[in-house]
Amino acid sequence: MPRIFNFSAGPAVLPDSVLETIRDELLDYRGSGMSIIEMSHRGKIFDEVYKESLALFRRVANIPERFDILYMTGGASTQFALLPINLARPGQSAGYVNTGVWSEKAIEQAELAGIKVHDAGSSKDKNHSYIPALKLAPGLDYLHITSNNTIYGTQFRELPDPGETKLAIDMSSDFLSRPIDWKHIGVAYAGLQKNAGPSGLTVVVIDREYYARESEKTPTMFRYSTFAKNDSMYNTPPTFQIYAFGLVLKWIESDGGLVGVEKHNAVKAQHIYDAIDAFPQFYLGHAEKNSRSLMNVTWNFANKDLEADFLKGAVERKMDGLKGHRSVGGMRASIYNAMSEAGCKALADYMRDFAQSRS
Ligand code: PMP
Repeated sequence: MPRIFNFSAGPAVLPDSVLETIRDELLDYRGSGMSIIEMSHRGKIFDEVYKESLALFRRVANIPERFDILYMTGGASTQFALLPINLARPGQSAGYVNTGVWSEKAIEQAELAGIKVHDAGSSKDKNHSYIPALKLAPGLDYLHITSNNTIYGTQFRELPDPGETKLAIDMSSDFLSRPIDWKHIGVAYAGLQKNAGPSGLTVVVIDREYYARESEKTPTMFRYSTFAKNDSMYNTPPTFQIYAFGLVLKWIESDGGLVGVEKHNAVKAQHIYDAIDAFPQFYLGHAEKNSRSLMNVTWNFANKDLEADFLKGAVERKMDGLKGHRSVGGMRASIYNAMSEAGCKALADYMRDFAQSRS
């Protein structure tokens, strides 16, 4: 069966070539007579896979030496809890920018961890349709942002300057979608499952200086330094995902690196935004124009009754995963790195046809 255009918000589309390599290598990993998922994580073969993925990631994302790369599990949702536990110092506060559901979940966990949360800006007044201006305060232990808001289709198009503190960034939905300027970053984290592989691996890039803030009373598996000291193998790591991450990184590198990826993503998103803008009485884009995401494009119909029809027609045209999140309604096209320009163009053409036939 031919592959469809998969606009799912995550887990999401992966490059055909990556899936083909996984298929070809699955029973016998490069002449070893075993599958990569059957091998000890402490064996020589997996050690090479692990080290190669780290080196590739550091190179592709241009990660400076001051950072460690940790392979963890539990998704961004677990990082929401681990960050305040390990990075906030007693009696101080951390800033959080509220750009939607995921930011709110991060804030909730910081409050549960008992730290003082400084409100560093919010877009709640307009159902998170824009990226708010920062409200900084002195003495923040870190400033948390969600770089791309999967549900609303907004994105920090540039990472903000956090002043005297550093950024802690949830990059779940725009991880590896553009070059990253690490200058203002203290920690960045993301699950693989949108831009970089299957679900199950959470990549954390953390400035080593933060380990000094950890408490010895924090359980061992909840401390970043445990992962740093043990090559992310204090316990059994998600070996298949680490292997797949390496394959995706190779694909990115062979495709022009993150500079090439960003250009490609901008062209792809433009096809769909142009279709929205061509029919402003018909399609109501959710995000304000200067906050538009290159990863998740969200819109409603002026006439909500057309939603079901639109989705039905999309399936007939081999497009799936377009139904929007309930917080915004309407449609959401998630167009992560592995979504082709052809897919975005097919969707934009369909949107134009649909608007013309129903207007
Ligand atoms: N943050 C953002 C921006 C997300 O899009 C998601 C998942 N959709 C999460 C956090 C939660 O990630 P996980 O399921 O990996 O915990």
